[in-house]
Amino acid sequence: MTAKIIDGKAFAADVRAQVAAHVARLKDEHSITPGLAVVLVGEDPASQVYVRNKGRQTIETGMASFEHKLDIDTPEADLLALIDRLNNDPAVHGILVQLPLPDHVDSALVLNAIDPAKDVDGFHISNVGLLGTGQKSMAPCTPLGCLMMLRDHNGSLSGITEVIVGRSNIVGKPMFNLLLRDSCTVTVAHSRTVDLPAVCRAADIVVAAVGRPEMIRGDWIKPGATVIDVGINRLPAPERGEGKTRLVGDCHFASCVEVAGAITPVPGGVGPMTIACLLANTVTACCRANGLDEPEGLTA
Ligand code: NAP
Repeated sequence: MTAKIIDGKAFAADVRAQVAAHVARLKDEHSITPGLAVVLVGEDPASQVYVRNKGRQTIETGMASFEHKLDIDTPEADLLALIDRLNNDPAVHGILVQLPLPDHVDSALVLNAIDPAKDVDGFHISNVGLLGTGQKSMAPCTPLGCLMMLRDHNGSLSGITEVIVGRSNIVGKPMFNLLLRDSCTVTVAHSRTVDLPAVCRAADIVVAAVGRPEMIRGDWIKPGATVIDVGINRLPAPERGEGKTRLVGDCHFASCVEVAGAITPVPGGVGPMTIACLLANTVTACCRANGLDEPEGLTA
């Protein structure tokens, strides 16, 4: 069996088109332009690329983009003061602080300073609690993107057996809460899980969020299962030239694709969906702030 490839790039383009249509309606019918503020502290090259892409895609969907680039040694108090200004700025409906923050800054303090209604990353403790108790919240972008692709591919997720490998606050745990809300039977595995291959083999859906290149092999996968590979890992690729690298996921694609029923590739799977969901969350936040109906199909 060769798995169907779930095309995250095409899926993300579709989500962005839906976002753009909502933005156009908000402008035409209500004279409202959704706005997303992104805060970057320091000059981490990967973070700079992410922030640039977020800004470009925000503008492409018709929204307003506000970028705040701060020096690596910006005092925590200055960062908190900026968050406070953005919280009180009516043109800003979503705030994202690019992680990781420098060591001298308390990341939890900064994330919890964001107005939960503008917390489009879904990391504020209020949104974490709302999601965990099955209430209306802002869902973190990466698991939201995975959920959208799973709903699209599998239809109803009710009763399906699912294993998430990884229990981080940004992927594994919110993924658990989202899937549980869709009535999946969910297991969360981690570094202490005994016989992980057997645990994975029992699942109809495997979500891999481990951060270990190509760890999950084809013989860990139940024939016909859906595999969502969240991992983004760089491996040396001398065949491409000196110092070159290539991106791989947490799943060993070549062996998993032979067994799974469907699989997301890396790159081109979960990655593009993360930014698309950030844009979707910003429109949702804007609609909520203005007491308008939320876009259908773009929230959890
Ligand atoms: P993380 O915070 O490092 O968490 C990794 C999780 O994997 C932990 O829960 C850890 O278990 C578990 N783990 C590590 N080694 C393991 C092993 N040998 N067996 C079983 N479990 C193991 O990572 P993360 O932030 O969730 O990110 C995971 C991956 O997703 C990374 O590759 C990251 O780059 C990628 N990512 C992609 C996107 C995207 O947009 N596509 C977004 C976010 C993250 P313990 O808790 O027991 O240590």
